Amino acid sequence: MLEHIDIPPTHKKRLVIIGGGFAGMNLAKKIDSKIFQTVLFDKNNYHTFQPLLYQVAGAGLEPESVCSPLRKILKNIKDIHFRMLKVDRVDLDKKVVFTARGTLEYDYLVVASGAKTNFFGNANFKATTLPLKELTDSIALRNHILMSLEASLLEKDPMKRKALRTFVIVGGGPTGVELAGALAELSHHVLPKDYPGIDMKEVTVYLIEGLSRLLSAMSEKAGLHADRDLTRLGVTVMLNTKLNRYDGENLYLEDGTSIAAGTVVWAAGVEAATIDGFPEASMNRKRLNVNDFNQVLMPDGGGCMDSVFALGDCAYMPSPKFERGLPAIAPAAIQQGRFLAKNLFLKESGKPMKPFFYKDKGTMATIGRNLAVADMKNRTVSGFWGWILWMVIHLWFLIGFRNKAVVLVNWMWSYLTYDRGLRIIVPQEVRLIQCQDRGCLVKKNPMAALYSSKPKT
Ligand SMILES: Cc1cc2nc3c(=O)[nH]c(=O)nc-3n(C[C@H](O)[C@H](O)[C@H](O)COP(=O)(O)OP(=O)(O)OC[C@H]3O[C@@H](n4cnc5c(N)ncnc54)[C@H](O)[C@@H]3O)c2cc1C
Repeated sequence: MLEHIDIPPTHKKRLVIIGGGFAGMNLAKKIDSKIFQTVLFDKNNYHTFQPLLYQVAGAGLEPESVCSPLRKILKNIKDIHFRMLKVDRVDLDKKVVFTARGTLEYDYLVVASGAKTNFFGNANFKATTLPLKELTDSIALRNHILMSLEASLLEKDPMKRKALRTFVIVGGGPTGVELAGALAELSHHVLPKDYPGIDMKEVTVYLIEGLSRLLSAMSEKAGLHADRDLTRLGVTVMLNTKLNRYDGENLYLEDGTSIAAGTVVWAAGVEAATIDGFPEASMNRKRLNVNDFNQVLMPDGGGCMDSVFALGDCAYMPSPKFERGLPAIAPAAIQQGRFLAKNLFLKESGKPMKPFFYKDKGTMATIGRNLAVADMKNRTVSGFWGWILWMVIHLWFLIGFRNKAVVLVNWMWSYLTYDRGLRIIVPQEVRLIQCQDRGCLVKKNPMAALYSSKPKT
């Protein structure tokens, strides 16, 4: 029998928020503490600014500068209680959330648990490729890239050596485009100084996309700009390319060809990080169906759950412009979080809630130094001005003055010196994962054997 989680008893309405990301954190910051006692659960004790994770992976930013401790963010908010716990499931009838350390009753529940990497059910890619969704992923990827380069200098076999210097990114969305650009720049400006022994012609970056163009969620013009700029940076962009499987050394494509690569990054998609306890039929594209007030919809047109809401990446809210649901991007999550705080106030004051309208301020992706694309209301801004816009907006949304200052200094340093100061390999345990495809145990980090200090047996 699970115990109750220790939260002070209250006469106020208890609001439980699952997830301190963009949506949950903005809701928590705006909620009226005179009416609500707020309990925020997150499996981590920090908020992650995911748009800059690729820069951590590319040794451009330190991990701490893209994260903020949730307790620090919330320290001036009254009657808020943070518990670092993963919520495993909810009981919607009894209005209780379940965690490994106990249960808690709620009056209002808000699911803001974001998204997780989507491998589309492919166990082989899940076991062998490297994702980029969480802070830990970005550190693991940075380690892997640097370790592969170190190992390549020790490798005698020319084919294996070339493979260790080959980086494949799967998925031509903003994350894939940004990471490909960052790796190409690393190979142009930083690696030649650090690794004079490496023939830079052997350092190859591939960006593989299944559709006919990059940045399919952005304008065609933005996709073409990204393709052209990445190609100029030396990235091999492969469109209309489908994958078969990866064995840790070779990436096999559906057309029968293969690429020998020591690094395959999976940036091909995300799916909602849903919580158990919701009926399957309340989901659409694995996101929780919500109405215009972000209330979770019951299955089969049975109305909505009066006191249960979903926000951000895990909510499916279609609109006339976004028939397949609002985009899974930070501005949508931020706006929904802030708006729900107002609506909960209205609801508790006995007034009708207002419908949410997404203010689409545009989308953007950076490709590299002086290169970015931004789809604004009526036009696409690219090149230098797109890049400036990208930097200003990302600095603006980054949490905390210290982080803004550290990131700005890092960017200025990199711009002036063409250097990246964070090329440290932090030793990490390598997890063993069952690779069903091959019926054997392979290392999650498939090239680990190659850069192991132990002699091969
Ligand atoms: C690599 C990458 C690059 C991106 N680049 C951009 C970009 O350039 N621009 C842009 O607008 N968007 C970008 N996005 C998307 C953007 O980050 C998301 O849309 C946004 O974070 C969604 O906010 P959210 O609050 O819904 O979820 P998140 O910010 O993901 O927050 C979810 C929170 O819930 C917590 N959580 C999850 N499950 C549980 C559980 N069971 N119990 C407790 N806590 C839980 C997580 O720890 C996390 O803190 C990017 C995403 C990634 C991965």
